[in-house]
Amino acid sequence: MLKTELADYGPVKGMMVIRPYGYAVWEAMQADMDRRIKETGHVNAYFPLLIPKSFLEKEKEHVEGFSPECAWVTIGGGTELEEPLAIRPTSEAMICSMYAKWVHSWRDLPVLINQWANVLRWEKVTRPFLRTTEFLWQEGHTLHATEAEAEEETLKMLNVYRSFSEEILAMPVVVGRKSESEKFAGALRTYSIEALMGDGKALQAGTSHNLGQHFATAYGIEFLDKNEERALPWSTSWGTSTRMIGGLIMTHGDDAGLILPPRVAPHQVVIVPIPPRKGDVNEVVLPRAREIAARLRSAGVRVHVDDRDTKQPGFKFADWEMRGVPLRLEIGPKDIEKEQCVLVRRDTRDKAFVPLAGLEAEVRSRLDGIQRDLLDRARTFVAANTTRAGSWDEFKQVMADKRGFIVAGWCGNAPCEARIKEETRATVRVIPIDGEARPGACVRCGEPSARDVYFAQAY
Ligand SMILES: [Zn+2]
Repeated sequence: MLKTELADYGPVKGMMVIRPYGYAVWEAMQADMDRRIKETGHVNAYFPLLIPKSFLEKEKEHVEGFSPECAWVTIGGGTELEEPLAIRPTSEAMICSMYAKWVHSWRDLPVLINQWANVLRWEKVTRPFLRTTEFLWQEGHTLHATEAEAEEETLKMLNVYRSFSEEILAMPVVVGRKSESEKFAGALRTYSIEALMGDGKALQAGTSHNLGQHFATAYGIEFLDKNEERALPWSTSWGTSTRMIGGLIMTHGDDAGLILPPRVAPHQVVIVPIPPRKGDVNEVVLPRAREIAARLRSAGVRVHVDDRDTKQPGFKFADWEMRGVPLRLEIGPKDIEKEQCVLVRRDTRDKAFVPLAGLEAEVRSRLDGIQRDLLDRARTFVAANTTRAGSWDEFKQVMADKRGFIVAGWCGNAPCEARIKEETRATVRVIPIDGEARPGACVRCGEPSARDVYFAQAY
């Protein structure tokens, strides 16, 4: 993470600096996610960073869940403030207070707003990208006239997250509902997408909450329905963050460094000019490399020419390999004679001589192939690391050895879930919402289980 220059540690513990290479990955992710959010009918807005203490306290469960992680502003302009202001850990309190001013009639619904912002949660244990005190995210906040519409919205966005994760990050996920103990503070139901990292631990990569009428009640949001009667709207919220970059690193990387899926790679192709044995790289090779770069760029490929004259080609190969660039293009005097170049894939290290004529199509098809193969490879990994545990002994054994997902029955009781966590550090990651229910017995206590759930140790 440090060597590839994705990020660096900031001066305050738990706060990271996202460097240009890492920020370019985030921008590619953000652009695609933003398109998906808008395509599903949402619009962007921006709400303030500071939330008055009294606003945060209106929803009881919400404030209990978040206050241990809150940072407070108590002095402004050298004067102690009458009321402390929280730096937003999430924006339900702020946004719902505004919705109470804006929503009066059924004609004002649904409200479908998303915000791109930073939030701050005072975490005790932090790790770059995975759990940082400040992080960047998008948070959607919607209001609906009926419970059915709110539930439909919650699941719609869960599905947007699932397809984004698989199509863009090549990161397969399991989806489902969270248990009561793992749900968002103040939510009726929380759903999440969970990815499996290379070390066998799960990563919650996005969440979508049906907030019921809790927030509408707490913040006094009311509307007149079609019968001119007072009613409470149903709300949802959903978010994904820079944590997904952590997921990306740990899903695809290997011992040589990063492997970036082409759709989020800042440079999809890096061109390394090979200097002639005698003579100057600037005479023939470099101009030709620049010409190829221009051609690829006009075909919509993100391409970079490594023209550093202080580094040898061998150094450049290793450097871009570590930074996870999907395709390396080598071109030297002999290649130019033969009107060809060399293409090397980062994921498989396959090397091929490719004619310069028609190079654009060849590069496109290879990038698509890498994107597809990374998802396939990650899916194979998840399948190989998902175990169906028939007994508690087997469960403990798997969690002690290879970890991964364990699919097993669960009674649905919180004390039983807590015991499982205590003994194995594994928690219920999701209760699946589709597929066969398979009723059975709880893997820990033997009580009836309505359906199998996914367990894992988690980041
Ligand atoms: Zn149980």
